[in-house]
Amino acid sequence: MNLLAECNKCGKCKETCPSYQIFLNESFCPRGRLRLIKALQENEITCEKSFKNRIFSCLLCGSCESCCPLNIDVTTLIYETRTKMKKGVFQYLFKYFSFYPEIFFSIFSILNHIKNSLNIKNLPYFNRFPSPNIKRQANFLQVYSRLKPKGRIAIFSGCSSNYLMPSITESLIYILNWLNYEVIVPKQHCCAAPLLAAGFKKEAVKLAKKNVEIYKSFNIDGVVTPCPTCAHFIEDVYKEIIGQGLNVLRLADLFENTLEEFKGDSNGHVFFHVSCHTFNYVKDADNILKLLKKFGIDASKKTGCCGFGGIFSFLFEKQSMDILKKKVLEYEKADMIISSCPNCIIQLKSAMKDKKILHYVEVIKKILLKGEKNGKVI
Ligand code: SF4
Ligand code: SF4
Repeated sequence: MNLLAECNKCGKCKETCPSYQIFLNESFCPRGRLRLIKALQENEITCEKSFKNRIFSCLLCGSCESCCPLNIDVTTLIYETRTKMKKGVFQYLFKYFSFYPEIFFSIFSILNHIKNSLNIKNLPYFNRFPSPNIKRQANFLQVYSRLKPKGRIAIFSGCSSNYLMPSITESLIYILNWLNYEVIVPKQHCCAAPLLAAGFKKEAVKLAKKNVEIYKSFNIDGVVTPCPTCAHFIEDVYKEIIGQGLNVLRLADLFENTLEEFKGDSNGHVFFHVSCHTFNYVKDADNILKLLKKFGIDASKKTGCCGFGGIFSFLFEKQSMDILKKKVLEYEKADMIISSCPNCIIQLKSAMKDKKILHYVEVIKKILLKGEKNGKVI
């Protein structure tokens, strides 16, 4: 990790920073945040509310790191600074959510039910999330076998796919089985991204160790996840915080030398919304695009933050919506939006309820199902 002192203040990171584009203030851009962190370390300033706002309004998207000529690890510095700061209600909510997602989603589900029965339309936060599906979770070991599998892959579902959009995990299981892999979905914990984002490093280390222990106890070729934030965490961030990560495979790579016969039809405008973590960390956006093309889907690639950013969307709801509004305009003409990230789908759907918005694994499963011959897939 490069030291704070190495920032040459070139400002290249500024244009790509989604929070700067909304706040339009130097202290809300990566360079400004670095300057403030340095000032705090050198006791030039104290940790006041305004400092907190600058540090927690970072969406941890990684765009600044992708374009910084000096490879300054801005997000690690943000994580470290947040760890030392006093926490508020939302930070603690994120902490308990990470350890007990099932309880959290059960409560959310009950409250959502009450909200719907009382016909309450505009309840903050609630309108943005689909009703949880508590029945289908990766909290017990599931095995999807093949007769003569070419290997064994474990799925890291991620909380959003696990509890809010289980069809994403189901599609991934179907695709991997179709590729002739035995698939296992172990009982897993949250990847710890919300913990680190809220400033709980010690607790994040605990969950990271538990997940690594679980996945390393199976004889597997690697892990596939439908969530790019989980992918970045279990592969890269775990290495930084516990010294070892999981071997994350890219689904598009597993399709090499496969498929000729399946052709999807995508009439109209199809956009491929590339999540920030797909673009800046996992870096498989172009391969996913090529994969979609092989399946007959000609999609236009669109990058740029949707405004979700986990805890950001709770602490800065208005700004999160302002970033989203730009995407809504950009996707006005879309007949279908395909994304690489479950969280982006939640965010985009909250403002475009009538649009068809799917994860790319759901699209591929649909096309495979269309061409599937009797009983070929378990
Ligand atoms: S791009 Fe890197 S070196 Fe340039 S201002 Fe931003 S953080 Fe500093
Ligand atoms: S991680 Fe994203 S939001 Fe945070 S400072 Fe960098 S570009 Fe801005």
